[in-house]
Order: sequence, then structure tokens, then C-alpha cells
Amino acid sequence: MKITASPLGPFETNAYLVVAENGKDCCVIDAPKDAGPLLLAEIKRQGLNLTHLLITHGHWDHMCDGHHFAAAGAQVIAHAADQQLIENIQACRHRYQSMIPSLADADFHSVKVDRWVDDGDVVEACGYRFEIRHVPGHCPGSILFYAAGQKIAFTGDAIFKSSVGRTDLPNGDWNQLLTSIRTRIYTLPDEVVLLPGHGGQTSVGVEKQTNPYAKP
Ligand SMILES: [Zn+2]
Ligand SMILES: [Zn+2]
Repeated sequence: MKITASPLGPFETNAYLVVAENGKDCCVIDAPKDAGPLLLAEIKRQGLNLTHLLITHGHWDHMCDGHHFAAAGAQVIAHAADQQLIENIQACRHRYQSMIPSLADADFHSVKVDRWVDDGDVVEACGYRFEIRHVPGHCPGSILFYAAGQKIAFTGDAIFKSSVGRTDLPNGDWNQLLTSIRTRIYTLPDEVVLLPGHGGQTSVGVEKQTNPYAKP
């Protein structure tokens, strides 16, 4: 799996560009601010065909540029528990603009989701088979995309290298997050590489041994 990570926007949210083995199709995982123009230019430069946008959860910094990818023909995938966040992005605009005054009204675009997925569903995107695991706690609609064949999981903000997602945002739940990590992430094989929504990669085995917040 050829993966390029681009940390973008005010929270350095990772947008992942994933290219198929055939070198033609590609998909994008998460759409932080500025990801649309930047990655679409790269997709065009490489002559790739964009098939999907996979959204790990509905927080603004993971989906605000999603409309660019939808307009370019990507099928948009997300979990229905975050439907309000994703389809009614104006509801969070004042909170983010008071935190980051440089954000313009134009930075707040909703995106139309084509397919709502839930735990156990499978998404076939750009030649890979992604199993959906529902990992609520940081956000109600948090999901991870697990490519068992490649031993890679895109985990959004559920778990980070030596850390976990914050649960002090609206509808966050600490106990639920720990349960999600223990039952839906630590049950993956130890060698599975975790690609989080912020920061660098880690693995299931490393986090089970060293994560200071989520013990197995
Ligand atoms: Zn988040
Ligand atoms: Zn985030």
C-alpha cells in the first residue's frame, strides 16, 4: 500500500493519500483544511483516479475539505452517529472561529455522505478491502479503517502514538473510549501499523506495551 501522509490545517490533521497496487486508483482518508486543493493537484499530477473519501469521524478538522473530494467524484464514507456534525457544519463554526480567528466562513462546508457504514461493514476502495471498526469515545461516530491484508489501520483520533483521543469535546466519553481501544484496537494483531489522525505511526503491539492511558 503506497501511503502519503500530509499533516494540514491548524491542528496538523493527517490527510492520507492511498494509491492502489495498480498505480491508477486512489482514495483519501480524512480531509483537513487545505487538503482538497493540495491533494487534488497531486492526484492530477500523478494521473490517478480518485474513488473514495473515507472520513474517520465528524470533527471539523477531519472533514472540512471533504466537499472538494466529493465534487471530484469521490464516494464519501462515514458513520451515521456523526451525521449532524458532517451535514450541519455551521453548528460548530463559532466554536472553532473563536479558537482560531483566522478561519473564514468559507472554511466551513458540509459534505454529502454517500454511504453510512457501521461496525463490521466492509468498504472496497482503490483495490483494498477495509473492515470498519466502530471506536466511539472521542466522537460518537469514530471509526477505523482496517486493511487486514496489508496489516494497516487508519485510526482517526481514537489512539495516537503514546496517547489517546481527548474526550472533553461534546459527546466525548472516556470510559467508552477505553472500551473501544481495548475491544476494537488491541484485539487486532500486534504487528498491525496504526496510522492516526494526528502525529506519526505506531503499532498495536507498541501501544499495548507502552501507551500510558490505555492499558490492555
Ligand atoms: Zn477529532
Ligand atoms: Zn483530530
